Parts: sequence; C-alpha cells; structure tokens
Amino acid sequence: MFIDLRSDTVTKPTPAIRETMSRAEVGDDVMGDDPTVARLEELAAGMLGKEAGMFVPSGTQSNLCALLTHCQRGDEYLVGQTAHTYLFEGGGAAILGSIQPQPLAQDEDGTLALDKLAALVKPDDFHFARTKLLCLENTTWGKILPRDYLNAVRSFASDHQLSLHLDGARLFNASVATGESAIKLAGPFESVSICLSKGLGAPVGSVLLASADFIKEAKRWRKMLGGGMRQSGMLAAAGIFVLENHIERLAEDHENARKLCDGLAGIPGLKVDPVQTNMVFVDFAQVDGSQVSQTLEKKGIKIGGYTGAKQRLVTHLGISSKDIDFVVDAFEEACA
Ligand SMILES: *Cc1c(COP(=O)(O)O)cnc(C)c1O
Repeated sequence: MFIDLRSDTVTKPTPAIRETMSRAEVGDDVMGDDPTVARLEELAAGMLGKEAGMFVPSGTQSNLCALLTHCQRGDEYLVGQTAHTYLFEGGGAAILGSIQPQPLAQDEDGTLALDKLAALVKPDDFHFARTKLLCLENTTWGKILPRDYLNAVRSFASDHQLSLHLDGARLFNASVATGESAIKLAGPFESVSICLSKGLGAPVGSVLLASADFIKEAKRWRKMLGGGMRQSGMLAAAGIFVLENHIERLAEDHENARKLCDGLAGIPGLKVDPVQTNMVFVDFAQVDGSQVSQTLEKKGIKIGGYTGAKQRLVTHLGISSKDIDFVVDAFEEACA
C-alpha cells in the first residue's frame, strides 16, 4: 500500500461505494431509461442551483461539451494559461471544436485580471475571432477564487457579452473551505462542471450543470464525443453516494494539507506555499528533488516525478493524519 500524494484522482472506491454501485437500478441511459443517472443529474443540478445536469465519463469531456455548446467554429474563449481546459485537455476545444483559445497568465491568487481580459476581448471586426466565452477554474491549483472576484466577473461578462463557464472540478473544496454554498459559487456561471472522481472519491465521472436548453444541446455533443453510456447507473450510484456523503469530509483533506504544509515548512531546504485547500506546493530549490522523490518512493510514498517545477502534493480520501506524520518524517530523512 502506497501513500499516494500524486493527485486526488487516485482514490479507490470504499466498500460502501462498491455496495451502493452493486445495488444500482439501471437502464439504457442513451435512451433516457436509467433512473439512477437521472437521479444523479437532478441531485447535482439542485446542489449547484442549475436547471439540469449531464453525467459524463470525465471532466475533460464535460468541459469540452460545455465549450462546444457555448461556442461555434471560429469563436474564441478566454482562459488561464495553466487552466485544465487549456493546458491539460489535449487542446480539444481547438482541435475538435475549432474554438480559438486566448490564454492569459493567472495572477498569484489564481484569478485572471479583468483589465487584462478586457484588453483581450476582440472588437467586432472580421480580422478577429469572435470572443465568446470566459472560462474559469475553482479551485485552481488549490486556490480559491475570491468571492468579490466572482461578482466582478459576472458584471465583466455581462458588459462584454461573454458567456461564463466554470471548471469546478474541485468546486466543493472551495465551498467547504470558505463555507460558501456551492450554489453561490456556481451562481455567476451559465455552465459548471464538477468532478465526482477527485477528492469526492467516486471511481468515474463528472457532471455538467446548466439550463435545460443548454444541457439538451450538450447531450448532442456528448453523444458525438462517444460519451453516451448505457447502464451507467452503476457509476452514477457512486456519484450520488459521494455527493451525499463525501463533501463535508473534504475538510479533513484540507486539515491534512495544512498539517503537511506546516511539517514540510520546518525542514531546511524546502519552501512551501501557503495552503488553501487540499494541495501543497513545495519548492525543492535547495535540495535534490529527484533524489528526494526516489527516497520517498522507497518508503512507499508516491509524489510524482520531479520536473524542476514546484512539486504538488495532494491530500484526499485515502490519506490519513497518521500518513502525514509518516510523510513529514520521511521528507526530513530524505532532505537531511
Ligand atoms: C481533473 C480535472 C479535470 C477533469 O479531468 P478528467 O481527468 O478528465 O476527469 C478538469 N479540470 C480540473 C481543474 C481538473 O483538476
């Protein structure tokens, strides 16, 4: 058994999740017959204050369906330089959707500066792509978008006639950490994608939430992208379970991340960024990162290969407070 800090995607379904999945009532969801998928979509829509939901196999497909629904061929979307949709989804929006990305570097707090965004909105002129959509991420690299910023973004989008999509893969982390309801955090956005398979711990799946009309259109894209699933109620059952049982416990992951941050900050040679949710970023500036990574691996701790950038450590359902003690001790030894 490894202590796996590479990502919160590594969680394995608990016995309770597996049990729920095995009892799921199912039907052919492409024909609209799966009652459990319908229940998940309704539950998630209610939790985010949107009219309708669409269950998809991955967050990547969820974001892509949203972008394809918001934008036409030749449209443009504004997005963070290190946002998942832009950087980690194979360029799907550009390649499959002919949607031009206009990336912009995030500020230190994870936000996209509105004055810089304003300068990137193209005039209505046939030399330019049509700027159609602003896509944000919350949390983004473990950071929570500030409440005031979300309000400002809503008026910014209205002023510039842009649609708003939120990649809320970890929206519930932001909600639990701030005490703000997910409905409020999702409020400014026409469409929101949430991941069930990150810290929430479901084995598979994301849900896209938006208006009923939007979801109807998005379902066309989902089918085209190969995301029409049949007896997917088995997977949706896991999604329902984690939405009902694993949200509050994200606070434990945040607590463990803070504990890890404090522990590592005391080790000479390591610099650690302040923690807001379940991600710790460590700068190995003064130690040999790949050496540390290898030493930890021998002790049964996975942190992912060292790339020279800040190392990300992620807490989740499968990491206990005791594991953190063990990890901090192991780091101390590895950095000595
Ligand atoms: C994980 C993640 C996604 C979706 O990833 P999939 O692996 O396709 O489910 C989207 N956005 C962010 C910010 C993520 O971390």
